[in-house]
Amino acid sequence: MQETGRRGRKLGVMGGTFDPIHHGHLVAASEVANRFELDEVIFVPTGQPWQKSDKQVSPAEDRYLMTVIATASNPSFSVSRADIDREKVTYTVDTLREMRSKHPDAELYFITGADALANILTWQDWAELFELARFVGVSRPGYELNTDHLEEHLRDLPADAVTMVEIPALAISSSECRRRAAENRPVWYLVPDGVVQYISKRHLYVPAGAEGS
Ligand code: ATP
Ligand code: MG
Repeated sequence: MQETGRRGRKLGVMGGTFDPIHHGHLVAASEVANRFELDEVIFVPTGQPWQKSDKQVSPAEDRYLMTVIATASNPSFSVSRADIDREKVTYTVDTLREMRSKHPDAELYFITGADALANILTWQDWAELFELARFVGVSRPGYELNTDHLEEHLRDLPADAVTMVEIPALAISSSECRRRAAENRPVWYLVPDGVVQYISKRHLYVPAGAEGS
């Protein structure tokens, strides 16, 4: 986009493994964009996710392409290769530092689910995170929107450092989508149509040895 760095732009940043991207992610981004009048939401698929390094994660290129397919029809959604091209384990602080240097005058809003926000203090350099962006925690079925355990840390931060937002509940997770695909059950309507087709075309999530042609 040409207007990179124009003063006063409000940019959402939605990090995730997106393995695969599903409607829960898209609704979260759309709701936060509307609530905070964001000009754009940038989806940033992770490189090798450190919190998931014990698990098998699909190739970055597949996760990137699914994210592009899922967001293509929305003019205010875009996808960044920043994390997948960094070729090291993704830390949110690196993502935000990079977004900050690419968009020096923009206000950044990091969008995260209630579950991920609960881990915020385990993130690397968490204090710097709040200098780089405002955090928006969205509700997610099965997880409490509870920041009590963050209180003592949040006390020293501006009131708008972390905002909790209630969004329409979609009990969808990528894990459940992978499980369904592996068991040959439908993922239609949980993920965008193009993503259903991409999963099947690339035989993603098919257990090793069960791959027909
Ligand atoms: P997995 O099951 O593999 O962990 P996931 O569904 O949690 O996948 P991620 O890519 O891990 O998806 O999540 C990216 C971000 O989106 C996280 O901040 C997560 O909390 C948020 N998120 C994921 N699903 C939902 C949902 N259904 N509603 C609200 N937020 C969500
Ligand atoms: Mg997750």
